Amino acid sequence: MSGEENNEPDELVAYDELPDVDNTDLTKEPQGAQVVKKGYAGVHTSGFRDFVLKSELLRAITDCGFEHPSEVQHECIPAALTGSDIICQAKSGMGKTAVFVLTTLQQLELPGAPTPSALVLGHTRELAFQIGKEFERFGKYLKDLKTAVFYGGINIKLNKQTLENESPHIIVGTPGRILALTKLKKADGEMLLNAKKIKHFIMDECDKLLGALDMRADVQNIFKATAQSKQVMMFSATMSKEVRPVIKKFCQEPYEIYVDDEAKLTLHGLQQHYIKLEEKEKNRKLSDLLDALEFNQVVIFVKSVRRAIELNKLLKECNFPSLCIHRDLSQEDRLKYYQEFKDFKHRILVATDLFGRGIDIERVNIVINYDMSMDADSYLHRVGRAGRFGTKGLAITFVSDEESGKVLEDVQSRFEVKVTELPDSIDVTSYMNA
Ligand code: AMP
Repeated sequence: MSGEENNEPDELVAYDELPDVDNTDLTKEPQGAQVVKKGYAGVHTSGFRDFVLKSELLRAITDCGFEHPSEVQHECIPAALTGSDIICQAKSGMGKTAVFVLTTLQQLELPGAPTPSALVLGHTRELAFQIGKEFERFGKYLKDLKTAVFYGGINIKLNKQTLENESPHIIVGTPGRILALTKLKKADGEMLLNAKKIKHFIMDECDKLLGALDMRADVQNIFKATAQSKQVMMFSATMSKEVRPVIKKFCQEPYEIYVDDEAKLTLHGLQQHYIKLEEKEKNRKLSDLLDALEFNQVVIFVKSVRRAIELNKLLKECNFPSLCIHRDLSQEDRLKYYQEFKDFKHRILVATDLFGRGIDIERVNIVINYDMSMDADSYLHRVGRAGRFGTKGLAITFVSDEESGKVLEDVQSRFEVKVTELPDSIDVTSYMNA
């Protein structure tokens, strides 16, 4: 897979090459586009029945235990159901996935829908895997539905077999592998993955997909292989003013939802603190915190693969039930560990930024930035791993140098949050859900 954890700010691939999209003044709102600017924070009082979804979908929603749509679902689902292009920025953990999964499945005319009908891109293999599971969860009562997930690190021959033998309606994947698959042909000369048939093109964590140079080029090339007439849906919690015009180039008269006041991206159930300390004091402090705090599950972020491996080793030596996930693991192990953590088989995860976005683990109530993130956006995504769907959580950041202090200042000036020094004692009920 290309581009994971690649934050190179170098030159970006020219976008003017994109066919089928209007490249005129992109700083203006497209004609006919509706732009909604609110803070999508809460849960709405209406019910999912108001969306008039297929009975199979409503049954699956009930099985998931969802009672009311979140605000972003309330706002976006009706618009997406009309087939309109969507650009949706909403807080971390407030149910964006269900927006595109439900609206895609609703619009699929089974049996007989084209294969593939929908393509969903995510920036990491774990995110693609997780999205694939969501399609299975919501689509479980749709008899003929077939979903396939494709990413690098796995023999491409297996993907080819899946495409040939199963003809999936929904394809979820990472850009590098999907692009490779769009270039392959069957023995009879037909395309193996015929991108022209795609009716719904979805990018989750779209600013990340379009931010890294190589991933952006892959996404662009996949997009070029699709037909003009399709629904495009773009999602992320962060969409800087710089990336918005790029995102818009993929859309036609999109329905746009932005959290225009960045301050509103803060998760209110999440307490955020910092600890000033020296680099050499980090291990001791971490061990003290893990002993003192009560947690269901905790994610500890570090800045490099090497540090992830070392820290995990150390924690295990001290008998903490930890595991670590990073890009140097085999693909098999990466997903195995992800699933084990999701299944609550381990309570502590040491991770790089690979795990910083999109990943939804319900029981995580504490995030520790052992190393501060590179920027404020990454901080927001990382701490959003705790406090999912309005639940309580705690984020603690180690500040050991000037650079980390600056990122923390940036976080506080951009988002409506006061990150204070960790007090000597914290009331457990303030960060643990009952
Ligand atoms: P997402 O932002 O899509 O990663 O979703 C975050 C979490 O919220 C996931 O665990 C979802 O299953 C859950 N979720 C999404 N929508 C709802 C809803 N309407 N009611 C309850 N939980 C939800």
